[in-house]
Amino acid sequence: MSAQKKEMNTDNNATQYTQDFSADVSRLLDIVANALYTNHDVFLRELISNAADACDRLRYEAITNPDLTKDDPGFRIHIWPDREARTLSIVDNGIGMNGEELAEHLGTIAKSGTAKIMEQMKASNENGADKMKLIGQFGVGFYASYMVASKVTVISRKAGEDRAYKWESDGASGFSTAEASQTEEAVLGGSKRGTAIILDIKDSAVEFLLEEKIRETVEQYSDHIDVPIYLVEAIHKDSHEAINQATAIWARPKNEISEEDYENFYRHITHGFDEPVLTSHWKAEGTIEFNALLYVPTMRPFDLYDPSRKGSVKLYVRRVFISDTVENLMYPWMRFVRGVVDSEDLPLNISRETLQYNPVVTKIRSAVTKRILSDLNKLSEKDEAAFNTFWGQFGAALKEGLYDASEHRDAIFKICRFFSTHDSGESYTSLADYVSRMKDGQDEIYYISGENLESLKNSPQLEGFKSRGLEVLFFTDTIDDFWLQQAPEFEGKKFKSVTKGNINLGQYDADKPEETEQEKTEKIKQDESLKPLLETIKKTLSEQVEDVIISNRLTDSPVCLVAPEHGVDMHMERVLKVHQKYSGSTKPVLEINKDHSLIRKMVSLNEDFSNEDKISDLALLLLDQAKIIQGEPINDPAGFVRRMSGYMEEAL
Ligand code: ADP
Ligand code: MG
Repeated sequence: MSAQKKEMNTDNNATQYTQDFSADVSRLLDIVANALYTNHDVFLRELISNAADACDRLRYEAITNPDLTKDDPGFRIHIWPDREARTLSIVDNGIGMNGEELAEHLGTIAKSGTAKIMEQMKASNENGADKMKLIGQFGVGFYASYMVASKVTVISRKAGEDRAYKWESDGASGFSTAEASQTEEAVLGGSKRGTAIILDIKDSAVEFLLEEKIRETVEQYSDHIDVPIYLVEAIHKDSHEAINQATAIWARPKNEISEEDYENFYRHITHGFDEPVLTSHWKAEGTIEFNALLYVPTMRPFDLYDPSRKGSVKLYVRRVFISDTVENLMYPWMRFVRGVVDSEDLPLNISRETLQYNPVVTKIRSAVTKRILSDLNKLSEKDEAAFNTFWGQFGAALKEGLYDASEHRDAIFKICRFFSTHDSGESYTSLADYVSRMKDGQDEIYYISGENLESLKNSPQLEGFKSRGLEVLFFTDTIDDFWLQQAPEFEGKKFKSVTKGNINLGQYDADKPEETEQEKTEKIKQDESLKPLLETIKKTLSEQVEDVIISNRLTDSPVCLVAPEHGVDMHMERVLKVHQKYSGSTKPVLEINKDHSLIRKMVSLNEDFSNEDKISDLALLLLDQAKIIQGEPINDPAGFVRRMSGYMEEAL
């Protein structure tokens, strides 16, 4: 925090402190003022949402300390446009803030990840609308006021405390805090608590002083806020009709709720600008009772893979907001789900800390998970494009569930999608579709794993599978190598890596014409002739490879590497090492394509003993190439370059 300056305020003799904004806030303010000009309405949504949160928080506190709301038990939000003073005030009777809290909450940004998103925003060349989306992911919150206000004054008194405080800033470099005078405090109305946000409206935003504009904006964004919002003509004048519906949307019957209502509520809770790809609203009745309104977003939040990211489903108990960070309410792999769960069974006065151990919460989690997975499956049947959007954004997170929650594994497998050789890696396939295309006698699901889809598609290990019309799945998410260890089969069919161990591809050649005796003898002779070459190569590479064998996986490439049958698959080994889950090291097996012309030439070359050095050089080059093609580092880059240059020179 920056140095504080103390000075006397001549108005009411209270001490005033001025302070600089934290660096985060200054940058955010700059972006809000300069990049968000397209959609000014948002400021009202943000301020109303803060006011409603403040009411929610006090409602919760009052469960254990009823004195806090004894004098003024109802909650409300007033919106007061003062056309003479050209100010717009949003006044709530929620929990309020004291002097320290004003400085803390409105002078710094506590949320983690803010700095990161700022960087992202600065780096992106996106236009205004896309910047909005980025910013929307964490909500500009209170600072959205500066889109329409040249100065913001906040008067607040914390419930249960005696003094009211004032916070003031033009949104440029810093802010000041002081005790509020009696006149200033009057804006809170009859209530002894709450917060007033007073905006000096800019010339460019005078429309927000018009009743019609306010009504329209509230209806659009804040209809479902379950605190009544009144439009008032003066501080102490009450109006009798709330301008919003003021009922919890999730508790209303489905047939009364329009598509638009659902979307507006989604925007309210996410601060987002995207549309949900899935909306699930239902009432669970039976052993446990709850209402749930849950959404799956279209856009991945910037911190989805940040291990410290918490779920963000809000837990209510009989319409009272309890917490949006209940650890066990959602599985970590469902952390992309947003929305509300409102329980009828949990006790209201439960402490937030013990909530996560409550068996009701665990039961809710199980029911909610089943429902979302089943709705996603329905979506995949009904609207493939929408489902694929979801999968592209959140599939990798969801697959953590295969590892984590065996009771939901079948349901997760059902919606898992992978690229495969079936459509040359262009479109997703489900596991069920893969199985329906399996060849006669095939009882394993073939896959290859690696980071990059494009290079996987060109892997030499695939050649023998492709030429026989055997489908191979591409596993490109890091998590794939993890769940495979916990969930090694789907519907009784084992997942089998094409880069590991022996795979008898000959069994799929049954429809080829029977070989004649002559062909068979020919083949045996050919294999015999290869033996000395294999020996020479093995001798040269013994440090680096476990074995050198004749391949049945290759058709076009001369060589490839595979992991031995009982070793760890090569890509998996690399992933596990990065995550410090494995420290061993498996020597790979070098497979040789005996029909490749290069190999045939080496066979003849090898017949003359004096060529041994040449064969060694070629063996080392082939091994290095096999490594390079699958993105593995090579042992001796200088040696590789020397040998390669030698051959290039010879070729010229
Ligand atoms: P967020 O609401 O996402 O936390 P905001 O920028 O909207 O971020 O608000 C920052 C913080 O300021 C809030 O978390 C809250 O602690 C405090 N705050 C803002 N408005 C109010 C209000 N009307 N009453 C009480 N506290 C408020
Ligand atoms: Mg807010």
